[in-house]
Amino acid sequence: MTSLDLSLHLEIPFREIEQHLEHIKHSEGKRLIVRPAECRDCGFVFKTRKRLNCPGRCPECRGHRIKGPLFELFS
Ligand SMILES: [Zn+2]
Repeated sequence: MTSLDLSLHLEIPFREIEQHLEHIKHSEGKRLIVRPAECRDCGFVFKTRKRLNCPGRCPECRGHRIKGPLFELFS
């Protein structure tokens, strides 16, 4: 799911999703898998990114067409 999907699914305002994800990431009993964001133009993967929101632009090609990050949530 994207942040937007999670926002709709969990009925949490989109702007609060990032902090909820941070909380889930650090809480026990739940597992969150983060698939890093990826540039649609050059394929650059934001592997080292710590924050969970969508990057504004690609450091490689300066493109704005960023896909993800995507989240998988297990309870
Ligand atoms: Zn790029």
